[in-house]
Amino acid sequence: ARKFFVGGNWKCNGTTEEVKKIVTTLNEAEVPSEDVVEVVVSPPFVFLPFVKSLLRPDFHVAAQNCWVRKGGAFTGEVSAEMLVNLGIPWVILGHSERRALLNESNEFVGDKVAYALSQGLKVIACIGETLEQRESGSTMAVVAAQTKAIAEKVTNWDNVVLAYEPVWAIGTGKVATPAQAQEVHCELRKWVHDNVGAEVAAKVRIIYGGSVNGANCKELAGQPDVDGFLVGGASLKPEFVDIIKSAT
Ligand code: 13P
Repeated sequence: ARKFFVGGNWKCNGTTEEVKKIVTTLNEAEVPSEDVVEVVVSPPFVFLPFVKSLLRPDFHVAAQNCWVRKGGAFTGEVSAEMLVNLGIPWVILGHSERRALLNESNEFVGDKVAYALSQGLKVIACIGETLEQRESGSTMAVVAAQTKAIAEKVTNWDNVVLAYEPVWAIGTGKVATPAQAQEVHCELRKWVHDNVGAEVAAKVRIIYGGSVNGANCKELAGQPDVDGFLVGGASLKPEFVDIIKSAT
């Protein structure tokens, strides 16, 4: 059995006051225990230590990115070593917004994932096709190529969660149907089975992201290969608690 995973990607949002409010809501929420659902919230870098210090101990924090290699003369970047030093256990890598807006290639994301893992971070690695790619029938080819660039550089998958986030579903209100999500998650698990191994395929969590909210999470969570969610907009709202509860 794969433990359900719910991540909240706050993206580039929040003031100190707003962050405090979100964390207070989370801290007061009654949710299933840590044995049932793993909850990770990902504030912008500048709020990470603050959120970590306020957040209940059964929830964890993730950075939204980190530098591809050891830190040094890379102005504006934050290294994996720094995250480790601050006790930040998780990092999101390869988010479609970074792939698209900051030109992160499959290879660059693969390098980032490998380096972050080598430093002891746990990684939420994001993949997913655009609308054009889906409409031209290349969804699986795109997702496989993105996963392959990661798989080529990763030997131990214990600390990897794969987040399938179709770009057309992100921030659009157009959530994938449960059948659409299940289809890709199942194909992706088969890809991992055939290209990495049966044991990793059985164990690796594949979570869905893209317009998940309190109303649509339950049916998605019921799909056999949907092991959780990476939530954007709704992770800033009290309904994030309902999404956590969809684990049971
Ligand atoms: P939304 O939930 O706002 O569509 O964003 C999803 C996402 O990109 C999470 O990483």
